[in-house]
Amino acid sequence: MNYRKFGNTGEEISALGFGCMRFPELEVDGKKIVDLDKTDEMLAKAYEQGVNYFDTAPYYCNSNSEAALGHGVKAFREKVLLSSKFPTEVAKKPGDFRRQLETTLKRLDTEYLDFYHFWGINKGSFDNIMMKQDLLKDAQLAKEEGLIRHISFSFHDAPEVIKYIIDTSESYGVPMESMLVQYNLLDRSNEEMLTYAQSKGLGTVAMGPVGGGRLAAPTELYAKLTGEKSVPTYELAFKFVLGNPDLNCALSGMENLDMVMKNTALAAGSTSFSEEEWKKLGDAMEQIKKFSELYCTGCKYCQPCPVGIEIPRIFNMFTYHNVYGLTDHAKHMFKDYVEKGGKLREACVNCGMCENKCPQHLKIREELDKVEAIFR
Ligand code: SF4
Ligand code: SF4
Repeated sequence: MNYRKFGNTGEEISALGFGCMRFPELEVDGKKIVDLDKTDEMLAKAYEQGVNYFDTAPYYCNSNSEAALGHGVKAFREKVLLSSKFPTEVAKKPGDFRRQLETTLKRLDTEYLDFYHFWGINKGSFDNIMMKQDLLKDAQLAKEEGLIRHISFSFHDAPEVIKYIIDTSESYGVPMESMLVQYNLLDRSNEEMLTYAQSKGLGTVAMGPVGGGRLAAPTELYAKLTGEKSVPTYELAFKFVLGNPDLNCALSGMENLDMVMKNTALAAGSTSFSEEEWKKLGDAMEQIKKFSELYCTGCKYCQPCPVGIEIPRIFNMFTYHNVYGLTDHAKHMFKDYVEKGGKLREACVNCGMCENKCPQHLKIREELDKVEAIFR
């Protein structure tokens, strides 16, 4: 396993992190529960192969992920870094942060968390919930008491909001220590902000580095681009993320033992392209994408939509289908989005805000109709 300096946190983090949102499940009396036998084996194997960062959240796997992770890492808890998340929407009154944190610690059966993230925040939740309710102060208190070791955030908004969050937290006196953002070969919109975060001493983790682990179709793409032997897309996508020097850890939502073995082998091998290869590949992918009929750069300027339609996310699914031919993967993403309550065009109130802000001048509403018709 390769390890990287994790910002200024003082930690060394494994290049591969274990995302605990796709644990294998069983159905018992009509209820889905995590298959602990399988999960324990996967977690132990990942640890044995050198993975030291395990990331969960309260609602993953029907809210069973935290407990399953705690169960699986019990024997080596002190040797690994555990990360979970605080859903800002639960903060309604003083003490809610602390109560939620205690629930998470209890489920994980641990005295402390290594990284506690403000979960999936955007400018609105940062300003109106976190800053208004002084949640950073609550986090600082929990840190002083040893309940959490590092304060972090995960993020879904326009890239420049990352800078705003980092700078505002710093001026407030409770600097963010690491961040978890979307970043992969097909969605590089947060790339500049990874560099900024590193310059400010934050550790950086990418979610969705290999498209949810389903980019398994072998491709001749790399061979075409570089004149070298072909590499499976999966490996290519993984190596691309790990090849970015401003990225410390790629989180993969591993769902079986095979995947654990495959990913740990990749993260242990030569993880990076040369700088030139890396750039060539990234540029080529951008070029391919540019020729697609719907060119959404993923800049997220259209966000937030007042009714919560995650426009760049939906358009990204279309790119997977239309540009890269990964239709099954795209359909799976769409299904997942809908199942988790993601909003679609039917919720649109036609305010037009998104189209006014889109630098690509996309007819967003029309495009949403088209894209949704393909995936439904
Ligand atoms: S026009 Fe529809 S999709 Fe666009 S911001 Fe308004 S509600 Fe959201
Ligand atoms: S739809 Fe337009 S504004 Fe929204 S992410 Fe795509 S390019 Fe950016």
